[in-house]
Amino acid sequence: MKKRHLFSLLGASALSLVIGGCSQEQATTETQQVVQAKPAKSYQWKLVTTWPKNFPGLGEGPERFAKEVERMSDGRLTVKVYGAGELVPALEVFDAVSQGTAEAGHGAAYYWKGKVPAAQFFSTVPFGLNAQELNSWVTYGGGLELWKELYEPFGVIPALGGNTGVQMGGWFNKEINSIDDLKGLKMRIPGLGGEVLERAGGTPVQLPGGEIFTALQTGTIDATEWVGPYNDLAFGLHKAAKFYYYPGWHEPGTALEFTFNKKAFEELPKDLQAIVEVAARMVNQDMLDEYTARNNAALEELVGKHGVQVRRYPDDVLQALRTIADSTIKEIAEKDASVKKVYDSFEKFRANVQKYHEISEKAYINTRS
Ligand code: CA
Repeated sequence: MKKRHLFSLLGASALSLVIGGCSQEQATTETQQVVQAKPAKSYQWKLVTTWPKNFPGLGEGPERFAKEVERMSDGRLTVKVYGAGELVPALEVFDAVSQGTAEAGHGAAYYWKGKVPAAQFFSTVPFGLNAQELNSWVTYGGGLELWKELYEPFGVIPALGGNTGVQMGGWFNKEINSIDDLKGLKMRIPGLGGEVLERAGGTPVQLPGGEIFTALQTGTIDATEWVGPYNDLAFGLHKAAKFYYYPGWHEPGTALEFTFNKKAFEELPKDLQAIVEVAARMVNQDMLDEYTARNNAALEELVGKHGVQVRRYPDDVLQALRTIADSTIKEIAEKDASVKKVYDSFEKFRANVQKYHEISEKAYINTRS
């Protein structure tokens, strides 16, 4: 029996006790007896995603999760990752995890707004929290408790599963010079951002990532947002539209999520539960790190090699969208007690963190530029 198995079975402190009281040989014999008496049970999980298999950034999160879980558990928990459509369609991930078709899922909470309206706050809110702030609200500001409460009736446990950082505003084939230019525009834009566009006179369309390029190229939609330079370049969106707008007012730091079937999670021994939680937390930070590193290189390529024209939304357009966004979100919250509860927590956190970030993050970035 190899020593690393001794570690995983007994833990480091138990190991030192055993070795401290007897010879190495005796310790090994004792371990064998432990192994014979209690063979380690292994678990195989299926993880379904809303992303195409191995899609850069978003799709790599669940792959890394699977790899780290297997490594940390020494193979006692293995996770097989299924891309969108391989086991279930992209937008049925939540249901699949809820029903136990898969033990785990990876996606974004705003995809489930039809089922859990308040879930949107756990992906992104127009003009809301950025990545750093959202991580803080969920982890240390009471967000996670509210999120768990929302998914509890579905037998699903949520966890943060990555963040894109501030997204880009989207791809258009015409310039946006005033709020009126959004009227009649058929744009792929999910979640609350979509509702804001609708109130500004546009038509929001919900499409999973894998269907965006064809829809834009064939004119089924006039415009789209996706993520940012790294992902948008990979999808070839620059081949179907020439104007690339910023900033992504609608998604200022979109969080991805892991979902776990509650029963499957609770069947795991405590150490494997901890491994699942720690691996999710690792992926959450890792994805943001990767996006930050790759987006600027991809933007250079889009502009330098493909001639993409980068445009900033005019201030008055952003201001108009901001006004619509605030009233839209408030209105949704007033209609539904479960949304109101999350909204109140989110808004309180936003107001406070905004004050502090004025004199910290923002002040520093302005100083540097
Ligand atoms: Ca997006």
